[in-house]
Parts: sequence; structure tokens; C-alpha cells
Amino acid sequence: MSRLSTLGRPLIDALRSAQGLVLVVTGAGISVASGIKTFRGSEPDAVWRQNDVANATVASFERDPVGQLDWYLDRFAAVDDAVPNAGHLALADLELQRAERDLPYLLVTQNIDTLHEQAGSRNLIKVHGSADRLRCGRYGCRLGAPSGSLSRSRVDLETFRRSPEDATLPRCPECGSPLRAHVLFFDEYYTEHDDYRFPEVEQAAAEAVLMLFVGTSFAVGVTSLLLEAGARRRQPMFSIDPVGTRLPASIPVESLTAPAEELLPVVVLGAG
Ligand SMILES: [Zn+2]
Repeated sequence: MSRLSTLGRPLIDALRSAQGLVLVVTGAGISVASGIKTFRGSEPDAVWRQNDVANATVASFERDPVGQLDWYLDRFAAVDDAVPNAGHLALADLELQRAERDLPYLLVTQNIDTLHEQAGSRNLIKVHGSADRLRCGRYGCRLGAPSGSLSRSRVDLETFRRSPEDATLPRCPECGSPLRAHVLFFDEYYTEHDDYRFPEVEQAAAEAVLMLFVGTSFAVGVTSLLLEAGARRRQPMFSIDPVGTRLPASIPVESLTAPAEELLPVVVLGAG
């Protein structure tokens, strides 16, 4: 047996015996092998540097919608050309595998890239929003929160990108308010927009019989909610991460230290 199938054996066994909902939660780590840097990376060219966090706020949007949108579009450009890696593809296979056995499966991602969709995942919640969409900055507008948005491809951004200023700022076709990124800002709640489908995430946390975290740093709000629910219900929890998972001993997560794009295909093959 290869080193990876030995490492993945407990997860393979848990997946094979899971008759209820399998909940997979992915973070930035799964997209690193697709060339997208992690959110809290310390690399100089990380897509999201920690001091950039101040930009991703409602306050920043209200103060400087031009600067903020230009900043976001830079970051989105970095994810636009990425393609799914073997980790994304394995999770799409896992969903099919579960569907063939008529067993429930849900993928919740913290990533705003579209690599899971491109890989073929269908039962997917993008709890932090999506880089391929924008929305009206005015709450209550048909194209804004709490339920509206529009595809980025429907908005002419070229003039703005060439010369980002108030006069070229793309505006809502319904009400003329400035458009904003369709992502969760740091000072917003998961309930800010229906697309984040937070009630469904809470429901899944309460129902899952197995949770698998992939490439998440556990630094973001939604993971603590899921970990607490999992620990309370004593359901099996696993984490796949290339550098291992650092969690308090009170949280019973089995850490499988390996790159997701190497381990996940072995696990999914073994569970089938
Ligand atoms: Zn509007």
C-alpha cells in the first residue's frame, strides 16, 4: 500500500461507512496548487495580504468605491486564469460517488474562485461569495443584498480598468448606485446575502455524520461554527493540509498532513 493510501485509510473507512451527510469544507489551501496564493499568506505577492484586510470592508467601500473595486478587480484577475487541480476534481468525483449510492453530500467553500464549479462540483455553497459576480452597493436594490447580484461578464469594466475614477465607476443598471464585489467583507455577517446560504451551512453542521476540512487555516468564522458543532455531536472530523492542522486538543480533528491534490484522489478512489 502506498504511503498516501496508508495515511488516508481512516478517512477512506469513514467515508465508506458514512450513511448520512458528508460535509466537505475547503479553504484557500486547495487552490494553491492551481496557482492561487492563500488568503493569509506571507508571500509578497499573496493574493490577500493581511494588511489588505482593511480594504475588504464596508467602510472602505463607502469611503472609496473606486479604489476598492479596482483593488478587488486586481485580485480577481489573479484567479481568472486558474484551472482546477486534482484536489478539486477529486471532490467532484466524491460528489458523484455519493450520488450514485444515493447518499447526501455538500461542499462548502471559503474560496471566491470558481475552481470547484469548473471541476464539476454541483452541490456547492460559496459562503464568502464569488469573484465572477458583482452586486449593487445599495441594500434592498433588486441587484444588491439581500438577494441580488449580476455576472461580472455582464458589466463593462474595461473603461474603468484603464482609468479608474468616479466617472468610469461601473454602476447598477437598476438604480445607478456604485457596484461592489459580491464577496463577504470582513465587517459583514454571513447573513448579509442569501447567496452565502448561511442557514443551509448551519443546518448541514447540525446534520453531518462526517466533516472533512481541506486546506483551511481555521482562521475564519465559519470553521469555528462547524468545528464546535462537530465536536459537540462527536462526529468524525478530518483535516487535509500540507503543513498539518494546529487546533486545540479539545477539538477532535484527525489531521492528515499531505497536499490535498495528492491525497484527495487517493482517498476518493479508495472510498469508491
Ligand atoms: Zn441598484
